[in-house]
Amino acid sequence: MARCTNCNAPLSDGSLLCAYCGDRNDVDLRGIHYHTTHETDLPRSCPRCANGLKTIDLKLNGTFLIEKCDQCLGLFFDPAELEALLDAAVKNVFLIDRSGLDGINANRQPEQYPVAYIKCPVCSQLMNRVNFGARSGVIVDRCKDHGVWLDGGELRHLMEWMKLGGKLLDQERREQTRREELKIENEKRQGLAGYRAEPSPFDSFGEPLLRSDPDLFDIIYSAIRFFTR
Ligand SMILES: [Zn+2]
Ligand SMILES: [Zn+2]
Ligand SMILES: [Zn+2]
Repeated sequence: MARCTNCNAPLSDGSLLCAYCGDRNDVDLRGIHYHTTHETDLPRSCPRCANGLKTIDLKLNGTFLIEKCDQCLGLFFDPAELEALLDAAVKNVFLIDRSGLDGINANRQPEQYPVAYIKCPVCSQLMNRVNFGARSGVIVDRCKDHGVWLDGGELRHLMEWMKLGGKLLDQERREQTRREELKIENEKRQGLAGYRAEPSPFDSFGEPLLRSDPDLFDIIYSAIRFFTR
């Protein structure tokens, strides 16, 4: 359970605002040291509050830049960076805690924002709303070309989901789907191959089919016909 850094009151799941003192808590990057490097080269604004985003360096395996809104604490990741950060932050998970995953959204605050499409901070096109992983309960806003926006608290939630084996569950499901697809493909292929490999010795009317390969008899027969013509 996350606690308010100002008054130590417990924060309800997914909430950044302390119900007691009203402080906004930066739960996502708690425990992660980062440096604000500079304002972004090209001014990018927060899709939630139009505040200018700041570039911060999480220094994971070298330079790891993401963008952050100081006002609403939302985060913007370049494509594939979010997965890289989750993989780096949550390691050594070998088990899927299914009941944990079942309960992960039980006490979660309803969405902080009304459901709406928001604009990509880079190209200003409306982003897609995409479910992130099986049962994470997090819907991220994604621009296919530029990256993923997470509202404050969502990164923390995704880390919890990773710890409970959410990513493993996701992979398991993908593999299962792939296996099922392969099985269907195989069955189709075998069905066709079987049909070709063993043609029925009878034609569609049940009459035995005649052999079509020339054999010795055919050759002699043709020779006799040739010479007796
Ligand atoms: Zn507080
Ligand atoms: Zn903001
Ligand atoms: Zn974009």
